[in-house]
Amino acid sequence: MSVTITPKPGILEIALYQGGESALPGFVAPLKLSSNENPFGPPPSAVSAMAEAATMAHRYPSTDHKGLRQALSEIHGLDPERIICGVGSDEIITMLCQAYAGPGDEVLYPEHGFGMYRISALAAGATPVTAPETDRVVDPEAILAAVTERTRLIFIANPANPTGTMLPLAAFEDLAARLPDQCLLVMDGAYVEYADGYDGGAKLVETRDNVVMTRTFSKVYGLGGVRVGYGYAPREIIEVLTRIRGPFNLSTMALMGAEAALRDTDWVAKALRVNADERARLTGGLRQLGVACDDSAANFVLARFSDEAEADAADAHLKKRGIIVRAPKSYGLPHCLRITVGRPQDNDAVLGVLREFRGPR
Ligand SMILES: *Cc1c(COP(=O)(O)O)cnc(C)c1O
Repeated sequence: MSVTITPKPGILEIALYQGGESALPGFVAPLKLSSNENPFGPPPSAVSAMAEAATMAHRYPSTDHKGLRQALSEIHGLDPERIICGVGSDEIITMLCQAYAGPGDEVLYPEHGFGMYRISALAAGATPVTAPETDRVVDPEAILAAVTERTRLIFIANPANPTGTMLPLAAFEDLAARLPDQCLLVMDGAYVEYADGYDGGAKLVETRDNVVMTRTFSKVYGLGGVRVGYGYAPREIIEVLTRIRGPFNLSTMALMGAEAALRDTDWVAKALRVNADERARLTGGLRQLGVACDDSAANFVLARFSDEAEADAADAHLKKRGIIVRAPKSYGLPHCLRITVGRPQDNDAVLGVLREFRGPR
């Protein structure tokens, strides 16, 4: 007997998500700059909170995430009733697709958009659609031109990954106002903290009924391995998503760790300061070596080489020296390498190895 059951349409079109590599043969502790993680690790306050929470591991966690939502309200001024917490912001993206997009529906995102949009759209049975960007910057007019009566969700990361570029908030206000009624604009805010003076679209969520913002604890809060993110959305949408959310989706450890990190505002501020300084230094250093890069508003820089072969050679050379960066080939950027901004000594190492790669010029 052989099993004849097959997955639903779309599932087999999903290529497995390629995360940043983390191991390098021959290196016990390679320098990992491939996943936009906080190079300083988790905040010690979060580690303590998680250790303490572990003593409560026999108890089921909170189902309403009240503590974390309250903390988000205090620290970021968000309305706790408009927040839904997820297993990373990835789960919010997944829930949005599950709830709002199915067979025959389209999920739209920019050309170089984050890999999870396609995966989540296909997993929901919907059709992924991309709109072209202009020189690695999201083009709102191209997005609008790609909207059809079947479009349900539009995902745009701002700042964007892997390009690091961003659009002004006004572009999203304008876009949201011009969308047809049947679609939602999702502002993916994984890197919002790194963009000075930008609220990620929180106010826009509060004033419109067709905008959703997602945020994460995986980047500046140093908790990528703990998996906590959240969505900020009109209440009707929160009510819909809550119906499909697993009641115990977040562990007590995750909830406590995230809340402690959120409240550790000095630690976060310092990480942001170092990132801003080091991002400028890495960008300047790359340009000095003749490696082009756009100004980044996030915690990584996209280095552009003359072609794919040169990017591959630079990647191989970095690996030979124990440094792992990300080759964003699946994002339509085969001539680029995405380098996470590290600690000062890490960025020195990257620049030193690339200087060696370029040779005397
Ligand atoms: C890192 C990242 C996320 C965050 O994913 P989590 O599931 O919260 O870890 C979301 N969107 C983009 C564009 C990212 O780069």
